Amino acid sequence: MGQSTATRLKIVVTGGHPGDPECGCGGTIARYADLGHEVVLLYLNRGEGYCGGASLDRCASIRTSEAQRACKILKSRAIFADQYDGRAIVDSAHYESFAKLLAAERADVVFTHWPIDRHRDHRAISALTVDAWWSGGKSFALYYYEVAEDTTMFTPAEYVDIAEVESRRRAACYAHTSQQPAKWYPKQAEITRRHGAEVGFGQAEAFLRHPESRPAQLPAGSKVR
Ligand SMILES: [Zn+2]
Repeated sequence: MGQSTATRLKIVVTGGHPGDPECGCGGTIARYADLGHEVVLLYLNRGEGYCGGASLDRCASIRTSEAQRACKILKSRAIFADQYDGRAIVDSAHYESFAKLLAAERADVVFTHWPIDRHRDHRAISALTVDAWWSGGKSFALYYYEVAEDTTMFTPAEYVDIAEVESRRRAACYAHTSQQPAKWYPKQAEITRRHGAEVGFGQAEAFLRHPESRPAQLPAGSKVR
C-alpha cells in the first residue's frame, strides 16, 4: 500500500440502481478499498424495473446478485434502501428512514449522484442523501459524481487517478450482465478518459464537493482544480 491507513475511513457511495455507484465511482471505490478503507454501496432499489429478457418478478433477485458480485470485485459491501425501481418516493417518512439507514453506517465520506439528472431515481437518492447530511449535522464529507447519459450540467473539480484500477471498474460494471454493459460502459470510459486528459492522468473519475462540506482524504495522486 502506498498510503498510510492509520485512519481507516468508511466510505459510502449512494446510487439509484445496482450499477450506478460502480459506473460513476468504481475506480475510486477500488482505490479506497485497496488502501484498506471500508466501502459500502448503498442502492436505492434492487433494479426491479428491468433485467434484460427475464420476467420482472425475477429482476430484484437477479440484480441483487449482480450487485453483490460487483461489490466483491471492488472489495466493498452492498446495502439497499428497499425502494422500488422507477417509483422513488421522496417524502418525510422516506427522508427519515433513509437518514437512519445512512447514519447507521457512520460514514466519513459519502458520494452521491449529481442532482440534475435525467433519471428520477438518481435525483431522488441525491435529495435523500443531502437531506440526511444536513439533518445529521454534516457529519461526513459530501461529494457528487456523474453517470454516463443521465447526468447533466456537471462541472467537477476534484480528480482521482483510476488508470491502474480501470480494469476492475470495468469488471464491476460488466458484472451487471442484465443491463447490457457493452451499451453504456464505453460512454463512462470516454468520460473518465476526458477527465484524465484534463489533469494529466490516463483515466480519472472527477467529483464535486458540496461547498459546505469539509474536504475528504481522497486516494493519493488526486488533483483539485
Ligand atoms: Zn441508475
